[in-house]
Amino acid sequence: MSFSVDAATERIIAEEDAHLAHNYHPLPVVISRGEGAWVTDVEGKRYLDLLSAYSALNFGHSHPAIVVAAREQLDRLTLTSRAYHNDQLGAFATALAELSGKDLVLPMNTGAEAVETGIKVARAWGYRVKGIAPDAATIVVANGNFHGRTTTIVGFSDDPSARDGFGPYAPGFVHVPYGDAAAIAAAIDENTAAVLLEPIQGEAGVVIPPEGYLRAVREICTENNVLFIADEIQSGLGRVGTTFACDREGVVPDLYLLGKALGGGILPLSAVVADRDVLGVIQPGEHGSTFGGNPLAAAVGVRVVEMLASGEFQKRATALGEHLAVKLDELVGHGVTGVRVAGLWAGVDIDPARGTGREIAERMLARGVLVKDTHGQTIRIAPPLVIRATELDWAVEQLKHVLGA
Ligand SMILES: *Cc1c(COP(=O)(O)O)cnc(C)c1O
Repeated sequence: MSFSVDAATERIIAEEDAHLAHNYHPLPVVISRGEGAWVTDVEGKRYLDLLSAYSALNFGHSHPAIVVAAREQLDRLTLTSRAYHNDQLGAFATALAELSGKDLVLPMNTGAEAVETGIKVARAWGYRVKGIAPDAATIVVANGNFHGRTTTIVGFSDDPSARDGFGPYAPGFVHVPYGDAAAIAAAIDENTAAVLLEPIQGEAGVVIPPEGYLRAVREICTENNVLFIADEIQSGLGRVGTTFACDREGVVPDLYLLGKALGGGILPLSAVVADRDVLGVIQPGEHGSTFGGNPLAAAVGVRVVEMLASGEFQKRATALGEHLAVKLDELVGHGVTGVRVAGLWAGVDIDPARGTGREIAERMLARGVLVKDTHGQTIRIAPPLVIRATELDWAVEQLKHVLGA
């Protein structure tokens, strides 16, 4: 490890190591506070957060307006289950439907649950509306996808570390190369219920499809009576400078899958959003979640949607993203082999001669910047949208330094 830690940090990490399942390999920092784009570790050292919990913290740590909404609700009512109505959920569904331009909202908790819900809805629609033969429905997915960690979802991942050893895998998924609309057209047959895609592949390294891809997918789905499901769990809610990444091409999918930032960085809140002719297929008793749509999450969600409806965060992401793109482009050829930027979201490919993505992330950590590697040589940059341009500049300076540029 290229990064030395002091005693308190070491003790806390050792304590975790003793009894925590090793399903993650965190960077050696123990965070105890967060505000805006900054976090503080147990030693009092501050770090600029360029990961934002994989875009769950689009509004930054402890955004005052979201914290107030959560605190007020915390004192009133937190959980009812959907066995009863609560006085927050209707307002949340109304606000999110309006923001999305859709009729209905199905609230869940985690992103993976939203994906699972989307799969169930698509299959139910396939049988009940499209008339696909029982148990024959298929869903077209892309190579390089990341949609979560449940057994069904990892079954249609093509990343060996996510998938291998957890079978048997659920059937009914057809793979196509990402970014190739003709391959989707060729993969569709009478049993196809849906095409499920990330409009930009986050976990794959912020992979941006060719211009026109999403529009072509939309047309192909419409022509073939197939649902277009956009997994906007990481790409949506302001990250790329628009409310949804699909907006970049003026495309409206049949289902939005939302999560991460929807919970305001406070709690897990996900949702499937679609029109009545699609989401209306689900009947009472067919799907649910004990915590899904709980009043605490709904109160937070209402505030988050209100903030997005102002357009302020989308504007910031656009302006700051353009700024970041210029700075990152200057690094190409100087320890960086490629850069992809969409809004305030970047994948930076590190020249293997300068170190692995993990090594770069560790060196950045030592200089007070949190980034995360993905797939070996790529660094993912997704700062809170509240970050300032001068802070971004400073972070890029640190990157330049650790690359030895
Ligand atoms: C993070 C993510 C998920 C899964 O969300 P969880 O809340 O971790 O279950 C699904 N899809 C995409 C695109 C994601 O980035």
